[in-house]
Amino acid sequence: MSARHLSPNDPAFAGLPTADHEWTSDDWQQLLHWLIESGILTYKDVTALVLGHLNPPQVGTSIASKKTFQAHFPPRKTWQAVRAWFYQQRGKCEDCGARLELQADHVETRQDYGDQADRLDNMLLRCRRCNVIRRPSHAQGGLTFLTAEAALMWILLIKRPRTYQEFEGMCRDYGMTMANIRFQEAWAMAHWLEDDGSYTIDPSSSL
Ligand SMILES: [Zn+2]
Repeated sequence: MSARHLSPNDPAFAGLPTADHEWTSDDWQQLLHWLIESGILTYKDVTALVLGHLNPPQVGTSIASKKTFQAHFPPRKTWQAVRAWFYQQRGKCEDCGARLELQADHVETRQDYGDQADRLDNMLLRCRRCNVIRRPSHAQGGLTFLTAEAALMWILLIKRPRTYQEFEGMCRDYGMTMANIRFQEAWAMAHWLEDDGSYTIDPSSSL
């Protein structure tokens, strides 16, 4: 353990901006160091996971398997066309520039154009989060740059709710619209870290 960081309830986290989109690179670095120095993760864990997510997603093969795209090409020529489209992309989210968790997204939406939207010249790459927040149901989810499951762990580890009820309220306040069962599942991490002495759950917690 290094001298600099950080007990589980360290006030250093309390001084950080309360919405992750305001975090600086240094803040993220501090969290990453803490995750490793606290023994929750190893550098190998983090790096191997990132490498796996850096691998180009199965976006091309998924498009090529759809009948609506196949309809534009001669039999068994779809993958060739999709591959050419895939290679022409920048390999980054069109909105935020991220290389991780890329998905194919429609320019003209399927909602408006139906199957006619399924054309290669109508597709581009966006990261999962930028893709999701364009949907009407997520219009006000502007507090986070994280995917939903990442935001659940960010709230747990940074805001350190002491009870499940508090955790659920924080998640709702953060604009998360998923079913409660997802919060309850995520709360398992509080129990697991408590077993290691890295988290404190108040006896008044309902779960
Ligand atoms: Zn993005």
